[in-house]
Formats: sequence, C-alpha cells, structure tokens
Amino acid sequence: MELSEDVLEVQKWVHEFAVDVIRPAAHEWDEREQTPWPIIQEAAKIGLYGLEFWGTQWLEPSGLAVPVVMEELFWGDAGIGLALVGTTLASVAVVANGTPEQVGEWAPQMFGTESEPAVAAFCSSEPDAGSDVGAMRTRAVYDEASDEWVLNGTKTWATNGGIAAVHVVVAVVDPSLGTRGQASFVIGPGTKGLSQGQKFAKHGIRASHTAEVVLDDVRLPGSCLLGGKDKLDERLARARERQRTGGASRGNASMATFEASRPSVGAQAVGIARAAYEYALGYAQQRVQFGKPIVENQAVAFQLADMKVNVDAARLLVWRAAWMARNSKPFTAAEGSQSKLFAGETAVRTTEKAIQILGGNGYTREYPVERMARDAKIYTIFEGTSEIQRLVIGRTISGAALR
Ligand SMILES: Cc1cc2nc3c(=O)[nH]c(=O)nc-3n(C[C@H](O)[C@H](O)[C@H](O)COP(=O)(O)OP(=O)(O)OC[C@H]3O[C@@H](n4cnc5c(N)ncnc54)[C@H](O)[C@@H]3O)c2cc1C
Repeated sequence: MELSEDVLEVQKWVHEFAVDVIRPAAHEWDEREQTPWPIIQEAAKIGLYGLEFWGTQWLEPSGLAVPVVMEELFWGDAGIGLALVGTTLASVAVVANGTPEQVGEWAPQMFGTESEPAVAAFCSSEPDAGSDVGAMRTRAVYDEASDEWVLNGTKTWATNGGIAAVHVVVAVVDPSLGTRGQASFVIGPGTKGLSQGQKFAKHGIRASHTAEVVLDDVRLPGSCLLGGKDKLDERLARARERQRTGGASRGNASMATFEASRPSVGAQAVGIARAAYEYALGYAQQRVQFGKPIVENQAVAFQLADMKVNVDAARLLVWRAAWMARNSKPFTAAEGSQSKLFAGETAVRTTEKAIQILGGNGYTREYPVERMARDAKIYTIFEGTSEIQRLVIGRTISGAALR
C-alpha cells in the first residue's frame, strides 16, 4: 500500500508541526488542563486549522489523508491533538445533515478566522443517555407562530462545550419515535439560554476542554434545524408509518455517519500507540541493566514486537475503513467500528507496556509515556465504548438483534 504524493506531503508537514510545536508543549498543557489557544492560533496561522485545511483532507480521493493527519497530530500529543480537531466532529454533523446554505453559514464560523480561530462542540451525550442514545431527554419544541424552536435540557461530556462559538445539539422532537424522533440544531455565538455547566477534571486528554452544556429556553430560528423542517417532517412521517405498520427500517443514516467517522478516531489512537512504542523502543536500546541494554532480554524485545505488530495492524484497519468510507463501499462487517475498537484497545495495551518497559521512570510525569497511557484510555470510552463497538460488529456480522 502506497500513499499518494499529496498525502505524503501533508504527513511530513503535520509531523514537523507535531515535533516543533506540539511535543514541546504537551506536558505544560496537560498540567494546565486548559485549551491550548496559542497552539490553535499557531496552527491557524500556518493553515493547519480551519475549514479549508479539513475540506482538502476530507476530499482527498484515497480517504487516507484524514487518518494520516490525525495520526501525526496525536503522535505529537493527544490532549493538544483533540483541542486541534475537536471542532471537526461538530462540523461533520453540519456538513452531513445541513443544507448547502447551512453549511455555508455555519461551517466557517465553527473554525473562526486565521487571526481569531474558534472551536465548535457536538453535544449528544446526556447524564442519563450515554451509550443509550435513545434515552435522550433534551427537548426541542416547535413554536409555529414565530417559526422558532425552543430547546431545554442538559448535555454532558461535550468536548469544547461552553467555550465553543457554535454548538451542534441533538434533541428530541418526537419522544414517541426513540432515536428516529431526534434532530440536530445549530446554536450560534451569544445565543441566550445556553450556558456552560461543570467543567470536568479528567484522567487524560487534559488539554481538551470537556464540560456540561445547559439549555434553558434556548430559542432558535427555524433555519437552525439542520436539514430544514420539510426534510424533518418527511423523515418523521416515514418513521411513524413504520411504527404503525411494523415495517422494516431502511437503515439508520446516523449509524452510517458514525461508521464513516470512526476510522479518524481510530487513527488518533494509532498516533498515541505509535508514540509510546517508539519511546519505549528507544529507551530499551539505551537503558543498561545487568551489563547490557534491556532490549537484549527476550522478555522486553517480545513486548516491543507485540507493540509494533499491533500498531501496524491497527493502522491497516483504520486505513481500510477510511478508504471504504471515502469510496462509498458498504460497511458489511462494521469495518469502521472494527478499526476504532482495535485501535483504541491497542493504544491502551501499548501505552501500558511502554510504562512497564520504562520501569520506575515510566510511572513518573518526568517521562511522557505516563501521560500517553492516561490519554489512551479515552479511546475505549468515547465515540462509542469498546462494548458498544462489539455490539455493532456483532449485530452486523450475525444479523442478531443483540442488546
Ligand atoms: C473526555 C470525553 C469527551 C467526550 N466528548 C463528547 C462530545 O464531544 N460529545 C458527546 O456527545 N459526547 C462526548 N463524550 C461522551 C461519550 O461519548 C460517552 O461517555 C460514551 O458514549 C459512554 O457513555 P457513558 O459515559 O454514559 O457510559 P455508559 O453508557 O453509562 O456506559 C457505562 C459502561 O456500560 C457499558 N454498557 C452500556 N450499555 C451496554 C450494553 N448494551 N452492552 C454492554 N455494555 C454496555 C459501557 O460500554 C461502559 O463500559 C465524551 C466523553 C468523555 C469522557
């Protein structure tokens, strides 16, 4: 498998940014537990942040540019990496579900400008609706007289929640229809009724801001419903008809979107795993005990061999799924979920092994593998936990209605 000249070029450029800008700042922002705005500004200044940059990567024909960029950024550092790419989740929701006018209006505002970059948040999870998206309670009620939607509820775990210029919020419009009665709304800067709740102090990815978002009588013009009212009404009518007749579902569009976005999340995990593997290899070649480098012990070299095999296997699963998504190949075996599951678990295993290879040093904050291990753990939790990925894969390959 060969990357195109264009992809190799962007890989080299992002790698240099990771080496020169991200890595030297990683420890500081992990300790500060704040959004690294100076680094976002620096990325924006050189064109490595923004709609144009991501648009180019998404449109790259092989589909491999996005995972390659993700891997290099997160090889640099996962917390800063997420601060730099968290906005893409919200922008993908707008691009996938919005009308061309909505994409044109909101997508640029999400990233801000070169001199004044902004971030965006995608808010789906709630205190009682994490894996179980159907338990969502945030309600959007249509006020026909004013052509406005009124939103009430509490979102949690939102990356960039409360500090975002634009929030994309999923809410229930018809509670009788479960997940099919949900719709997405865009909430622009300075909208009354939206506030940040608790900001979470986290185990890892601490340079990425995670918080609750409280919606208290947020009034939005009809134009903020992604896709528009006519499309929503048609979709709801179809869902009601299916419910009435017990008809089969024609596949869930949001599930297809998740399958297509999961490889990029998997690529982030590959970046962390590769960074930990490389660090541990270098350390094992230098560290001398019993008169020889520790890598000369089979017990250590075998660990490194397993780390290397797993990192490469994870990358290949990610690239396969990313290529399939870009080239509209059907995910007949949940290949997107496969890639995210394997890459996430590889990151956890590889970073843990890296700590072991560094011994006492691995356990301290003087060495980066401890941070990498804390960062890696989120990859078995967010964007669908490992259990949910297995559920999706199990259902897809067996056709069984697993719960
Ligand atoms: C740092 C961070 C950033 C995040 N960013 C965002 C964001 O930007 N936007 C957003 O909307 N959300 C975000 N999330 C939320 C994230 O997607 C959820 O945490 C995740 O989906 C799991 O939901 P939960 O935490 O409620 O866990 P739960 O759903 O309560 O799960 C708890 C445990 O039960 C298991 N479990 C649940 N149901 C089943 C089942 N049917 N079978 C087997 N096991 C099951 C889970 O796998 C897990 O191990 C973020 C979370 C974190 C921690």
